[in-house]
Amino acid sequence: LSQTPTLEAAELERTFIAIKPDGVQRGLISEIIHRFERKGYKLVAIKLLIPSKEFAETHYDDLRGRPFFNGLCDFLSSGPVVAMVWEGQGVIKYGRKLIGATSPHNSEPGTIRGDLAISVGRNIIHGSDGPETAKAEIALWFKPEELVNYTSNAEKWLYEPS
Ligand code: GDP
Ligand code: MG
Repeated sequence: LSQTPTLEAAELERTFIAIKPDGVQRGLISEIIHRFERKGYKLVAIKLLIPSKEFAETHYDDLRGRPFFNGLCDFLSSGPVVAMVWEGQGVIKYGRKLIGATSPHNSEPGTIRGDLAISVGRNIIHGSDGPETAKAEIALWFKPEELVNYTSNAEKWLYEPS
């Protein structure tokens, strides 16, 4: 029996991606979605909402105590956020690559933050930083029934058969 995980198992990797209020207000929703979509990742959930301050604090719980925490949570709850779940092989790690470094000053050209943002406090997008946070953030932002179960016709052209 093969120890290699099946493609089906690998494809099930999911990450939480959010376009922050600055990205929404600057008209960058389609630009950001386009980058995940054209890579080949599959959109499994999406909604527009204004999170409460308390919700933002829960989302950024690991940053409690940092000097920018309060401003960050005020900002995240200051306007509409596009919350999404994207699925695909390696999407958690590669999604972070598409996003770029936390500070846009350090983000490479070609990345979302590198191309579209200037300052760390207005870096337009969030992405889960690992499998555990991805799982927790998807559960925080979405009810299970909001994750849409469907087959992507592109998948047979994106992945080799296992
Ligand atoms: P991320 O995973 O790349 O988004 O970065 P972190 O999880 O470390 O931080 C969460 C968010 O807090 C970042 O996306 C920034 O918007 C903000 N942030 C992080 N570090 C700083 C900082 O030094 N100053 C300010 N103003 N905001 C920061
Ligand atoms: Mg983070």
